Amino acid sequence: MFDKILVAVDLDPEGAELLLKKAQSLGSGEVWAIHVVEPQFVQYSIDPTFTGALTRAMEQDAISAARARMKEIFSGSGIPPERQLVTLGRPAERIHEAAEAEDIDTILIGSHARKGLRRLLGSTANAVLHDAPVNVLTMRVPE
Ligand code: AMP
Repeated sequence: MFDKILVAVDLDPEGAELLLKKAQSLGSGEVWAIHVVEPQFVQYSIDPTFTGALTRAMEQDAISAARARMKEIFSGSGIPPERQLVTLGRPAERIHEAAEAEDIDTILIGSHARKGLRRLLGSTANAVLHDAPVNVLTMRVPE
């Protein structure tokens, strides 16, 4: 069940570290990590190209920044770069797709974000649980 674990992270370093430690304590299996960048919707009124080019440019910037952050967070973790996934889309959908594509047995996810508005919502964990193609383990992440 824990041969291949996919840890879903929101790029909060302390939350990611807790999840990573938990994943590593579950056995000697392969640990993967994923962060999903949510699409940006720039109002047409402020996109001078009216083509969505500004939106795409912002998304590319967000993806590059997320990749850099993942690298920082997971440096020294033993997770090689090819197992640090960064994709664009709806988090739950992309996490499910990655789990299937990489033949993951268990997704490990925090019950809530640690800080800010997201902490109140707790929506990612619920969405990942719903219709998950593999086992999902939620870990309570303290404030
Ligand atoms: P939330 O439901 O947004 O409060 O977040 C709960 C957990 O979902 C976090 O602790 C992370 O494990 C995971 N998570 C949240 N946002 C993302 C994201 N954009 N990409 C991957 N995992 C995420």
